[in-house]
Amino acid sequence: MAFTPQKPSLFGETLESLQEQIEAAGFKGFRAKQVMDWLYKKRVDSWDAMSNLPKDFRSWLGDNFILYPTDSVIDKRSDDITQKLLLELEDKSLIETVLIRAPQEGVGQKDSRKTVCVSIQVGCAYSCKFCASGLAGFRRNLMAAEVVSQLMHICRREDAHTNRAREEIASFDNIVFMGMGEPLSNYKTLIRALRIINAQWGLNFGARRITVSTSGLAPQILKLAEEGIAVRLAISLHGATNEVRSQIMPVNKRYPLETLLPAAKAFQQRHGRMLTLEFILIEGINDSLDQAEELSKIARELHAHVNCIPYNTVEGLDWKRPSIRRQDAFVDVLRKAKVSCTIRREKGHAINAACGQLRLKTEKDRESTAVR
Ligand code: SAH
Repeated sequence: MAFTPQKPSLFGETLESLQEQIEAAGFKGFRAKQVMDWLYKKRVDSWDAMSNLPKDFRSWLGDNFILYPTDSVIDKRSDDITQKLLLELEDKSLIETVLIRAPQEGVGQKDSRKTVCVSIQVGCAYSCKFCASGLAGFRRNLMAAEVVSQLMHICRREDAHTNRAREEIASFDNIVFMGMGEPLSNYKTLIRALRIINAQWGLNFGARRITVSTSGLAPQILKLAEEGIAVRLAISLHGATNEVRSQIMPVNKRYPLETLLPAAKAFQQRHGRMLTLEFILIEGINDSLDQAEELSKIARELHAHVNCIPYNTVEGLDWKRPSIRRQDAFVDVLRKAKVSCTIRREKGHAINAACGQLRLKTEKDRESTAVR
């Protein structure tokens, strides 16, 4: 279901597209750069705040655009590590944006690395069996403005907390497309949003600090490799053989490992950077030592780092995370095979931070309120 807003948001424009429209309306083209500075450097949230712009131009902007296409409805922080925003879109759909602070050894909380996890679709069509985002099905693709504005919400709330001088770069270190949805199936939005995020006139955020995570759309992986934006790629593998992977990720039937892995390899060779393989550990499904062996082979072949994630329980799903001992045995096999790997423990579990969970809960609450 496509959604057509009454007016486009400025956060979906590139400098060129805005300049074209400004000139077509009879205003000076250099105003486009001034507008972008107000959006991305000074990060204002009203037309009136754009004080160096003539009044008639400001009212033209207001007649033709909106600023934010997203409204923050829940801002949830249960610990020092994870902060979750639930955003409402113009059509009342809900999406999630998460800020994760990873404390660094030897430094205080203030200097922790901050990663923003953004959503790219409302719901998801890929139906991975363990994931909350797919449970409610797919509603629609996000537009570039709805992606960029998620980051701007985070920037603005961080600005307010840190008293930094405004005219600065974004106050977080990494962006990951690991929220709701499949980035490579909303490809046009992904590329447009990446260009805005990366551009000097935009968020001016380095491509190398952006990770795109995919359930494995092989053709789009090859396409992304040629876009000239050197983002990092993460593959949600979750199964090291077709048999296991197909059981939990239907997408594997379309792009089985013999198709997916060469595409991943081509991406790695094009950019020369390490890939990441995400591997959720689910008890009795993919946590055997045989799977660990197979995973080691794949990781070595792809020159990839493996990120093991003990499964986060989702209401309504029966899967369990393996015992710590079993998790450790799995990781041991990888380490013995000299595979670079990490195991992520408990980030955001308490506030439903695994993708799709907060939205799912809120939608359920809304439904039960509507029934009453
Ligand atoms: N569609 C993309 C990005 C969204 S998912 C992808 O599949 O990569 C982001 C990550 O969260 C994926 O690695 C996904 O497998 C993981 N994830 C989903 N549900 C989870 C759960 N219940 N516990 C832990 N990780 C989960």
